Amino acid sequence: MKLRCWGARGSIPVSGQEFERYGGDTSCLELRSKDDELLILDAGTGIRALGCELARQERTSLTLLLSHYHWDHIQGLPFFKPLYNPAANLRLGGCEGARTELTRVLARALRPPLFPVPFDKVPARVTNVPFVEGTLRVGGLLVRRIAASHPNRAAGFRIEEDGKSLVYLTDNELSLRHRGGLNFADYVAFSQGADLLIHDAEYLPEEYPQRRGWGHSHIGDAARLAREAGVGTLGLFHHNQERTDTAMDVLLERCREQLSRPGDPACLALFQGFEMDIGP
Ligand SMILES: [Zn+2]
Ligand SMILES: [Zn+2]
Repeated sequence: MKLRCWGARGSIPVSGQEFERYGGDTSCLELRSKDDELLILDAGTGIRALGCELARQERTSLTLLLSHYHWDHIQGLPFFKPLYNPAANLRLGGCEGARTELTRVLARALRPPLFPVPFDKVPARVTNVPFVEGTLRVGGLLVRRIAASHPNRAAGFRIEEDGKSLVYLTDNELSLRHRGGLNFADYVAFSQGADLLIHDAEYLPEEYPQRRGWGHSHIGDAARLAREAGVGTLGLFHHNQERTDTAMDVLLERCREQLSRPGDPACLALFQGFEMDIGP
């Protein structure tokens, strides 16, 4: 499968020359299976540009999984071009424990007077796809879901194809168990042996104590998870809105120092436009 990142920022989009290299759009990842099946993870502001690309390619069959409903993960949705194509078929999946169906949750946020087009009236066909016993098939991709530790609940996903795997765990506070969340050992088991682990690494360890309980992790915890799970590569994600390119370089370097033992995972920070081939 092929991965492309359309937004790696957390909380709120940013712009300006100090954010050019890592990018300013919020969470959105595109995955393509070897059969060109398309899976989108999160609908942050990065999904706008992805939608333009999909419209050019005339893609009408789409699956979108939302880790949760916080603004930075849904904010690009009203500007996602395929929603306005009557031929498009959008399958939506989300986090466990949502009290109402995903489309109904989104229809509460995307409606007048907050946005002129009500989400339940968009021209595209939008359906909810349920996970069955925590798993979902998207063409040749097998998706497994885990509850993340985050205020208001969130989900992480593990996507596999031909024995290769990617784990997406954003908005996950490893040092604190929020309601509905799990323990560190559960995230180690879930991420075990993944080729790429994309994890929330919003803070430096010294920034974390003042932000404990906000639902995010520091690089020390993300690195420890990557090591204990024996992943191939750790991809830092959900970059803080104050973290400039230069500051991001420092954060990445500090994380690499933590992962400098023989056999430790490689470490990189995702950026807008980042691409990776995972497996055959
Ligand atoms: Zn977030
Ligand atoms: Zn969140």
